[in-house]
Amino acid sequence: MTATTPMVDIQGVHKFFGELHVLKGIDLQVQKGEVCVVLGPSGSGKSTLIRCINELEQISAGRLYVDGELMGLREVDGVLHRLSDKQIAKQRERVGMVFQRFNLFPHMTARENVMEAPRQVRGLGRAEAAQLADEQLARVGLSERADHYPSQLSGGQQQRVAIARALAMQPDLMLFDEPTSALDPELVGEVLAVMQELAASGMTMVVVTHEVGFAREVGDQVVFMDDGVIVERGAPRDVIDHPRQQRTADFFNKVL
Ligand code: ADP
Ligand code: MG
Repeated sequence: MTATTPMVDIQGVHKFFGELHVLKGIDLQVQKGEVCVVLGPSGSGKSTLIRCINELEQISAGRLYVDGELMGLREVDGVLHRLSDKQIAKQRERVGMVFQRFNLFPHMTARENVMEAPRQVRGLGRAEAAQLADEQLARVGLSERADHYPSQLSGGQQQRVAIARALAMQPDLMLFDEPTSALDPELVGEVLAVMQELAASGMTMVVVTHEVGFAREVGDQVVFMDDGVIVERGAPRDVIDHPRQQRTADFFNKVL
């Protein structure tokens, strides 16, 4: 693919859960190296949107491309076919995801948690996976904690391990779904700092968060969602400080 191919290209995507119309025609492009921050009230469809990018949810209509590759579907003579689970798992390897709840394996050390996917999915040997894990733990500032178990780590440190775990698969794209929402306030900063460094290193990121300061400082593009649609998008200073839509203004008046 050429340098101008967007990392994420979402075209006319709809998502239904039964009768419930959750995504109502989403169009969104995220360029390579860009940080796209998604904001919006609870229930607006933010999690569903990024879960669709990662194929954790199947879209109901539209097209979704990651780096030019149609996700979850194959088009033959104009007819769309669902990819096999194996093919979808392969596509998913390129996309790292970090959730609100970090879900580390409690019986494994930080290093072992980070080694797990490279070992199981990519079939790396123990020594190679350990080296990769140590590199990723260094990246999130946790070299000293590699041999600690999750119970011996703070929530912020556990979330940083979860970020290292996602990075260990060497993804082209990282998705974050409210990565700091479950943390005590004093632990939020260390996680946001790691994400800011990751952005500075050139990683393409889609971040759902309520941290408006992060959106302002790190976001290249801010997207405001409400009720399954993108109400407004643009540079942070435009969307956050000079919204054009009343719905956007009302939201930021409440959270700021
Ligand atoms: P947000 O992340 O913005 O809070 P979500 O994407 O989680 O919003 O949810 C959007 C809507 O979709 C909500 O009404 C939610 O209840 C509904 N929803 C989300 N996941 C499911 C699901 N698996 N089954 C049924 N409804 C769902
Ligand atoms: Mg959500």
